[in-house]
Amino acid sequence: MKVLVVNCGSSSLKYQVLDMSTSTLLAKGLVERIGIDGSAIKHEKVGADKFVLETPMKNHKDAIEHVLNALLDENHGVVKSMDEIEAVGHRVVHAGEKYASSVLITDDVMDALRECSDLAPLHNPPNILGIEACKELMPNTPMVGVFDTAFHQTMPPEAYIYAIPYEYYEKYGIRKYGFHGTSHKYVAMRAAEMLGEEIGNLRIITCHLGNGASCAAVKNGVCIDTSMGFTPLDGLVMGTRSGAIDPAVITFIKEKEGISAEEVLQILNKKSGVQGISGISSDFRDLEEAARQGNERAQLTLKVFAYRVKSYIGSYMAKMNGADAIVFTAGIGENDIDMREMICSDLDGIGVKLDADKNNVRASEAIISADDSKVKVLLIPTNEELMIAMDTVEILSKNK
Ligand code: AMP
Repeated sequence: MKVLVVNCGSSSLKYQVLDMSTSTLLAKGLVERIGIDGSAIKHEKVGADKFVLETPMKNHKDAIEHVLNALLDENHGVVKSMDEIEAVGHRVVHAGEKYASSVLITDDVMDALRECSDLAPLHNPPNILGIEACKELMPNTPMVGVFDTAFHQTMPPEAYIYAIPYEYYEKYGIRKYGFHGTSHKYVAMRAAEMLGEEIGNLRIITCHLGNGASCAAVKNGVCIDTSMGFTPLDGLVMGTRSGAIDPAVITFIKEKEGISAEEVLQILNKKSGVQGISGISSDFRDLEEAARQGNERAQLTLKVFAYRVKSYIGSYMAKMNGADAIVFTAGIGENDIDMREMICSDLDGIGVKLDADKNNVRASEAIISADDSKVKVLLIPTNEELMIAMDTVEILSKNK
């Protein structure tokens, strides 16, 4: 069974085709600058050369049309007819409180997603455009929505209610939602498989450390807490995002700098995080290099980042009465050996001991804790597209 996975941004679109009988990738690509001069599709069939086509694309429908042409192409295509694509899995950022799992997309689902656009004004509208374009061009192909927020919907109220007047939750839906759910779900599931245990018997802390970063506490297979909040600005220190700060800082900066609250929020989103502390870069490769060369701000930045991750690990251990496993994933989690070491240092008091040799690994699945570590530490490359395709297959089989 072949599944097309689509992830639509406002001017870009990422896609993959997977053969789900073997869970293998057949082709992937990226469309950039949709609706802007210089639109292009970069398509790659596994095992073949990259194909790049620069051509005007005025909207998402044009973009999907080019994706389908690429998939059907005689030389770099992977299907002979679009009928071979049995379903499309769409990544959608926000499903609010509406969906706690992936769903078959119906008109009602589309209405619900439009309602959630208020909560994710930058992300849901392009996600919806992508679905609409696919529905137009592939009217007989079932579509499944896979939501970043869904995995976190199992959090209990004490984890997601903010201590502000309750009416704001009731009137506007202001609460913790959490994001990166597809990634947290995938690595938690893989961790259980790698440990040879039932996920229902495990307490897992998943650390998705990329340019955007979040942690989640997964108890007996369900998420009970996560670090991102009402928006993806909360929680860990990120590439350019501040993560959690005292909200009073916003009005303080606003007054001192003579700027609007909106501008302060822009600073917290785009100019803060490790970029803001270091003044060097949002990329951990640059920061690690600067720190090695003795740059004290870079050293401080790395310490602040690690400290915040540690705080969540400690907090989630308290919330789950311990942990069986900690998982590192995403760009930093998968590649930054020194950062994993820094985060796990001095945690032997709570049962976490990294093995320096085993930790000397990048971007492949591995158990990197010492044999006598009570809490296992795992490195698991995330694969959100595969998770979306797996959910798509599962939802289809349930709706047959
Ligand atoms: P992601 O958002 O998951 O794609 O992660 C991107 C981030 O991963 C980059 O901004 C880097 O900070 C980090 N990263 C990628 N490769 C390395 C590496 N070899 N060492 C340290 N950090 C890395």
